[in-house]
Amino acid sequence: MNTCSSISELQTILLPFRNTNRKIVLVPTMGFLHEGHLQLIRRAKELGDVAVVSIFVNPTQFSPTEDFSQYPRDIERDKQLAEKAGCDVLFIPSNEELYPNGYLTYVDVYEMNSVLEGKFRPTHFRGVTTIVLKLFNIVQPKVALFGQKDAQQSVIVKKMVRDLHLPVTIEILPTVREHDGLAMSSRNVYLTEQQRSDASVLFQSLQFAKKKIETGETNSHRIINEMKTMIEAKKDTAIDYIEIVDSETLQHLSTIEKGKTILIPLAVRFGATRLIDNILITT
Ligand code: AMP
Repeated sequence: MNTCSSISELQTILLPFRNTNRKIVLVPTMGFLHEGHLQLIRRAKELGDVAVVSIFVNPTQFSPTEDFSQYPRDIERDKQLAEKAGCDVLFIPSNEELYPNGYLTYVDVYEMNSVLEGKFRPTHFRGVTTIVLKLFNIVQPKVALFGQKDAQQSVIVKKMVRDLHLPVTIEILPTVREHDGLAMSSRNVYLTEQQRSDASVLFQSLQFAKKKIETGETNSHRIINEMKTMIEAKKDTAIDYIEIVDSETLQHLSTIEKGKTILIPLAVRFGATRLIDNILITT
C-alpha cells in the first residue's frame, strides 16, 4: 500500500494507472475505520484496478459548535485496517493541502441541503459536496463508493454528479450494523455503556416502521409518532427528526403509496452524542 499526503505525490502514484486507462475507485472517509468503511474498501478492490482511500476529517462540514477537534482519530490503526481490506493508495492530506490560505470556493446542492440533516446542520452538506468534488478532481476515479448509513449524503452526492456531469459512477453500499442493530459509526465511541445499550432502539424503531408499512399502514404521521414513543422511552434522548420521505427527492410523504421506495431517516441525541440512521423500504 502506498501512503501519501500531498496532491502531487498522489498524482505521481496514479499517473501510470491513468495512462493505461485502468480503473481507479475511490472511497472517501474521515478515518477511525470500522467495518462499514472496510466493506467499501473491499468493494473498491473488487471493482477496480486501484483502490484509493482518503482519510480527511473535513473541517468545512463541521459547524463551530460541533465535534471537529474531538472527532476520533487513529491513523496507525487505520493504515493497517485499510491495507488489510485491499487499499492500494491511502491519501491522508492536511487541512493546508486541501484548504490553503485564502480558500474561497464551495459547491452547494440547493434545497436538498437544507432538509432533514440540513435543518440541524445548515452548512454541513456544503462542506460535504465541496470536499467530495475536490477529491473527485484530485483522484479522478471511475467509481466512488459511499454508505447508505449517510443516506442524505448519498442522495446529494448523486445529484451533484448528475447536475455537474461529473464522469464518475456512484455506488452505495448497505449500512453495516453491530449485533444489536446499531449502525456502525466512528462516533459510537462517544456513547456511555448505558447510551450504547439504549441506542439499539434506533434500529428497533426503524424495523418497527418497516413492519407497520408491510402490514398496510399508510399514515406517515402515525408511524413517526410510534417511533418517537419508542425512542423517548429511553433516558437522556432527544429526537432532532424522524421523517418519511421519497428516497430520491427527499420530499416529505404524508401518505405511503404502493410501488415507491421510501426513506425513513432519523437523528437522535443520546446525551451529547448525536446519531443518525435510516431505512429504505420498497412498498
Ligand atoms: P465517514 O468516515 O463517517 O465520513 O464515512 C465514510 C463513508 O463510509 C461514507 O460513505 C459513509 O456513508 C460510510 N459509512 C460509515 N458508516 C457506515 C456503516 N455503518 N455502514 C455503511 N457505510 C458506512
